[in-house]
Amino acid sequence: MPCREPLRQRASICNQTVHGFHAPAVPSSDCDSMAGDTIFGQMLRGEIPCDEVYRDERCLAFRDIQPQAPVHVLVIPRKPLESLRAADSTDSELLGHLLLVAARVAKQEGLDDFRTVINSGLEAGQTVFHLHVHVIGGRPLAWPPG
Ligand code: AMP
Repeated sequence: MPCREPLRQRASICNQTVHGFHAPAVPSSDCDSMAGDTIFGQMLRGEIPCDEVYRDERCLAFRDIQPQAPVHVLVIPRKPLESLRAADSTDSELLGHLLLVAARVAKQEGLDDFRTVINSGLEAGQTVFHLHVHVIGGRPLAWPPG
C-alpha cells in the first residue's frame, strides 16, 4: 500500500540508525520509497564518494568500507529496492543482472572462488536498506556463516 505521509514525516517513521547506518525501524513495503535515502542512495546520486569498481545504467559496484576479506565489493541496483524481499517479478531481469555483475566484478578482482551474500532484514544482518549483493573473496571462507 503506498505511503501517503509527506517524505519528511515518513523519514522519521522509517529511519533509525543501526550500527551507524540509516535503516528502516520497521522494514516494510511502506518504506520502499525511502530506500533512495540510504547512504547507498546518496552514493548513487553522487552526494557522497565511493570506491567504485564498476558501473552501468542499472547498477553500481564499489568496495565495502569495512571489508571482511581481501576483496569485498557491494553491487547495488540504481532502483531503490529496500531489500530482496521488496523485489517482484518485474525485477527478474535486474536481479539476474546484479548476479552477473557480481561474477564479472569477482573476475575483474582476480577471484576464481568467491561468495555472494544478500542479507534481507535486521535479523539476517542487513544494516543498509537498499538491496546489495556482497561479493567476498581472497581468503578461505567458512560455512555456515555466523
Ligand atoms: P549489510 O549489513 O548486508 O546491510 O551490508 C551493508 C554493508 O555496507 C556493510 O558491509 C558496510 O560495511 C557497508 N557500508 C556501509 N557504509 C558504507 C560506505 N560508505 N561505503 C562502502 N560500504 C559501506
